[in-house]
Amino acid sequence: MSKTKGKLIVFSAPSGSGKTTIVRHLLAQKELQLGFSISATSRAKRGNEVDGIDYFFITLETFKDYIKQDQFIEWEEVYQNNFYGTLKSEVEKLWLAGKHVIFDIDVIGGLRIKRKFPEQTLAIFVQPPSLKVMEARLRNRKTDAEEKIIERVAKAERELEFAQDFDYVLVNDELEIAKKEAYNRVKDFIKK
Ligand code: 5GP
Repeated sequence: MSKTKGKLIVFSAPSGSGKTTIVRHLLAQKELQLGFSISATSRAKRGNEVDGIDYFFITLETFKDYIKQDQFIEWEEVYQNNFYGTLKSEVEKLWLAGKHVIFDIDVIGGLRIKRKFPEQTLAIFVQPPSLKVMEARLRNRKTDAEEKIIERVAKAERELEFAQDFDYVLVNDELEIAKKEAYNRVKDFIKK
């Protein structure tokens, strides 16, 4: 991949931790010059999601072809038969446009990016105040079936163990405070 001064800002967390809200907030702060890395996924579209905005929705077969063609920086079978991955072309495109790239990805994928680009990456783990709060947020969202919620909570329990491998753990107790903290960390990092 090309040499660039562009940074990589990774936000990883169990779903229901509020990371997507924080990432959206940061994207709206134009002075940070962030561009969102749209991942590819083989999972089905949910609700109001749009292809090419929320994800590139591709078939499992295409996903496997891309793996063979080495088109991903990282990829992961996050849930059974549901693959997610970061395309090299996506990051290149954002860097070329003069942006720092922000990611909303799985914990394992986030750490892979950090390992591949240790100096260029700020890896932030967003931690829900508790698993109970996280479960309640998922129920409130009303986008997932009960078995999916149980699967996500179990995954979160495992993911919390990785928090210590990140550059920074952001506890999302009060959303407004978490947003400010995230902003300050990112601003300091991209100045370097
Ligand atoms: P969801 O299905 O709720 O959109 O996402 C499920 C999980 O996959 C979330 O934890 C999300 O952050 C993660 N994810 C999304 N894109 C990627 C990616 O490109 N790579 C990896 N490793 N995980 C991703």
